[in-house]
Amino acid sequence: MHELSYVVKIVDKAISAMNSVEGKVVCVHVKIGELTGALPEYLKMYYKQATLNTLLEGSSLSVEYISARAKCGSCGKEYAPNRKNDYLCPYCGSADAVFISGRELTVDKIEVEK
Ligand SMILES: [Zn+2]
Repeated sequence: MHELSYVVKIVDKAISAMNSVEGKVVCVHVKIGELTGALPEYLKMYYKQATLNTLLEGSSLSVEYISARAKCGSCGKEYAPNRKNDYLCPYCGSADAVFISGRELTVDKIEVEK
């Protein structure tokens, strides 16, 4: 259950972003990569608790789930890495891959009501 620590990070980022913005927060949009292992429904559940008595209280969390993609360093092909085969390249079996997406944990947009 590491969703709670992710939510704490998201809330921190959103609150510091709100230092320079006026208005009531309606919705916080985040991007979460598959490789973080976080499940959107848990993030939303913890978000409610984590935002109590903060600037974000009463706002909702919108989660965009980003699938993991890797690019093989040997054959150059892109693929969806899979833990079951140790993230190896399905085309050539190389372990020399770079993850190009899937590790995101970013606050994309904050919707405010003036
Ligand atoms: Zn390959």
